[in-house]
Amino acid sequence: MAFSDLYRSDAPAAGAPVVRCGVRGCACADPGRRLNGPNLVTVVRTVASLVLVTTAALQHSWPLLLAAYLTYWVGDSADGCLARWRGQETRFGAVFDVVCDRVNCTSCALVLLMFVPAPLPVAVFLFQFVVVDLPLTLLPMRWPVLSPNYFHLVDRLAYTLNWHVVAKVTNTTLLVLLLVLVPDQRVALLAAGIVLCLKVFSLVRVLRLPRPTAARHVAPPATGAAPADPGTEPVRA
Ligand SMILES: [Zn+2]
Repeated sequence: MAFSDLYRSDAPAAGAPVVRCGVRGCACADPGRRLNGPNLVTVVRTVASLVLVTTAALQHSWPLLLAAYLTYWVGDSADGCLARWRGQETRFGAVFDVVCDRVNCTSCALVLLMFVPAPLPVAVFLFQFVVVDLPLTLLPMRWPVLSPNYFHLVDRLAYTLNWHVVAKVTNTTLLVLLLVLVPDQRVALLAAGIVLCLKVFSLVRVLRLPRPTAARHVAPPATGAAPADPGTEPVRA
């Protein structure tokens, strides 16, 4: 599978008719535009956090590392919120955001080691975040969904464990908070180990789900309100 297949949206050309099935989070709602505000926010927060974390390492500055983390966390939340608010969620943006998360999180965690010498918990966390969670978070793009944030349309347990907002915030902040706030590093190691187990379980679970078909639309939720009737509408230029 080529990298571009991860976010290929099959978006028709402007002016061409497109069938919207009405299911929130279906890939057919991808506007197909990569140059938009949310992706710009992703670029800015990634570069800004990288500059801050590099300066923090060079100057051995704890406040600058904190600023790098906050830039990453707030920016990561802002790009997603902006995309949802403005209806600019794209499959490209989802993949781009996931890759930028690894850049920011890995650089911050490595510099954190300069201040909190806890190589084992950080190693377990980085293995989990880069080796297990990265492919796991890209796997939902095999289905016709806008992003992993809509994977509850495919598998609710995997979604709840990995892409529910509580699960995402926990995975990016828990290790740092435990290392900084709890003197006994075994607590952070235990937490990192538990998260690693959950991620491996999730990866195996998602890999074993029935293979997605070539369908352009994701199946609507089994329960709840029925989606709007599929209809044909022009693509907004
Ligand atoms: Zn659809």
